[in-house]
Amino acid sequence: MDIADQIKTIEEELTRLNVTLIAVSKTKSNEEILEAYHAGQRAFGENMVQELVEKQEALPKDIEWHLVGHLQSNKVKYIAPFVALIHSVDSLKLLKEIDKQAKKNNRIVDCLLQIHIAVEDTKFGLDHIELIELLRSEEFAHISNVRIRGLMGIATNTSNPKEIREEFRELKSLFDGIKVSFFKDAVYFDTLSMGMSSDYKIAIEQGSTMVRLGSTIFGSR
Ligand SMILES: *Cc1c(COP(=O)(O)O)cnc(C)c1O
Repeated sequence: MDIADQIKTIEEELTRLNVTLIAVSKTKSNEEILEAYHAGQRAFGENMVQELVEKQEALPKDIEWHLVGHLQSNKVKYIAPFVALIHSVDSLKLLKEIDKQAKKNNRIVDCLLQIHIAVEDTKFGLDHIELIELLRSEEFAHISNVRIRGLMGIATNTSNPKEIREEFRELKSLFDGIKVSFFKDAVYFDTLSMGMSSDYKIAIEQGSTMVRLGSTIFGSR
């Protein structure tokens, strides 16, 4: 199947399930992205700041750009003017920098807090204790131009579906707990970004509201 067919097929499936599709276009050309765009896709995800900025400049302005990969504080300024959602906030330091750059641009920037759910410690993200500490901190209370929309997690890269299911289940239960404890009246706290090409079906079964699909749409990298 080509990119347009793939977008249409997956979008139809996800719409029925009320799940948002982020088409992860890292390493893919502008032509390939436009193919998805012309099939109706508007939300795209990248994991490198420079690539994200170059594509944003070159491609249609109604594309909603998501940063899904690790973000260094010193690069926030390049994406703060336009980014739709940062999926990968993993420290208070980074959150404060996003807040600062959001203010400079007179924007509210939507973010997800990335939670470490995989067994591999090469993956980024906050553990449960760090998450609670961040949300309870004095400094967090002073952040005004960032809106925390929810959580994101990347499961272990394994062929064992039981393990993946367990990790997603844990993330969903953390999401529900955090919502009740810290975001009770915040209707905007509604996003649980979990699931990639290899595991998105399990993620949806466990309550994902947003999946990040690269190779399923664009082919292997
Ligand atoms: C690359 C990437 C994806 C998409 O991966 P696929 O396996 O190609 O679907 C999703 N999330 C993050 C954070 C990524 O870096």
